[in-house]
Amino acid sequence: MTQENIRVRIAPSPTGDPHVGTAYIGLINFLYARQRGGKFVLRIEDTDRTRFVSTSEDMIFDALKWLGLSWDEGPDVGGPFGPYRQSERTEIYREHAEILLANGTAYRCFCTPEELEASRKAQMAAKQPPKYAGTCRNLSPETIADHLAAGKPFTVRMKVPDGSTTFRDELRGEITFDHTNVDDQVLMKSDGFPTYHLANVVDDHLMQITDVIRAEEWISSTPKHVLLYDFFGWQKPRFWHMPLLRNQDKSKISKRKNPVSLVYYRQAGFLPDAVLNFLGLMGGGMPQEQFAAEKFSLEEMIQHFDVKNISLGGPVFDLTKLKWLNGEYLRALSAEGFYEALRSTILSDTYLKEIAALTQTRIETLGQFGNLTHFFFTDEVSPAPEVFLPKKRTIEETLAFVAEQITALEGCDWTTSGIEAALKQLGEAQSWSVKENFMLMRAIVTGSTMSPPLMESMVIFGKARTLDRVRRFLDAQKKAASQKK
Ligand code: GLU
Repeated sequence: MTQENIRVRIAPSPTGDPHVGTAYIGLINFLYARQRGGKFVLRIEDTDRTRFVSTSEDMIFDALKWLGLSWDEGPDVGGPFGPYRQSERTEIYREHAEILLANGTAYRCFCTPEELEASRKAQMAAKQPPKYAGTCRNLSPETIADHLAAGKPFTVRMKVPDGSTTFRDELRGEITFDHTNVDDQVLMKSDGFPTYHLANVVDDHLMQITDVIRAEEWISSTPKHVLLYDFFGWQKPRFWHMPLLRNQDKSKISKRKNPVSLVYYRQAGFLPDAVLNFLGLMGGGMPQEQFAAEKFSLEEMIQHFDVKNISLGGPVFDLTKLKWLNGEYLRALSAEGFYEALRSTILSDTYLKEIAALTQTRIETLGQFGNLTHFFFTDEVSPAPEVFLPKKRTIEETLAFVAEQITALEGCDWTTSGIEAALKQLGEAQSWSVKENFMLMRAIVTGSTMSPPLMESMVIFGKARTLDRVRRFLDAQKKAASQKK
């Protein structure tokens, strides 16, 4: 028997900051490949242009490199199955959509967005699950030709047959989906871009992926993928769906309850080895002995981690535990190593120079540097209500406004003008004066009513850390307010 050439991949979408979930799935794929002499591929799934964020791809590369999860093939390093960025493969998807149209397993759908919306509303009103009504499933060749000649835009949908699909999940065993619950999924959008489902399956096949190891949220997409493999007449990969990381309350991990950006962990001074170790604890892939000891290296994970050990109860992402573990790693450093760790993060030349530039015109002795800038170096500031609460506002309306500020900051360009515009626009819409608005933000970010210029400070402090600070402020104040009641 010839040895199988194992090939696995992660396929993040560049829609924002790199997510801890990507690192978690990345780690498991990385280990799986390294343990079997296989290849670990990084593919960028950037076909959803509405959610595309141009800076995201580089942030994904940086975060994975920081963690030491190096890939064998990818957009930046190339490889025999490239390109590895889906936006550069649109012709391939078009050709594959043609194959399905020709063999009758897909069809053109000419329904307009308005028609689809009306049908969806009618289904909702009738308490039916929203699903494509099948209007264009059996159009005559003449009608199709007429629509095409008239230049009517269309999507391509898969023709899900009656019956059911069964596939094997390597952790769960057989899973069956009745097709009454499987929609005639759009494969090609009217803008000529494929949807996730088509691009993902075509690429996994062409890139010769043997094992699809991904998060459990994709299980419900898998029957569609399995059908697509069958429609093309292709051999299927093995499927492994990993449990989702969870907040303390067991809900799916979310930025409201935990920092989820890897940029945050890096900037807040977590060590990559500690983060990897912590992720390796999630779900319990290590044998009992190491798992109980809790502390292990990437090398030890390559030796002992077994994806088959992963248990399906959602692993809780416990930040307190991660901090404890990180502390253990800090203490294990030599004095020199510890100093180096500080100098490469929170005391790096780049960071210090940027901060220094904000203080030169504002201090009288160098000794005052710390008074003005301490908030850049602490994990937390806790402004009292006298500091953050605008005179004419109640705590309730202030906290409601902070929640809106968070949303505005999440969506804005992280530049001084981007932040300023977003906050001002919000203030105008909610009738908060610029003064109230900015003073509140200043208090939350710097802990004080006096600080170096706010927007510049926020840019330097970084989006991930600033947002974490504002979210934690809101959380703490909400708790305090509810306890008072
Ligand atoms: N692009 C998907 C994501 O962002 C990939 C899911 C998969 O691995 O199939 O997670």
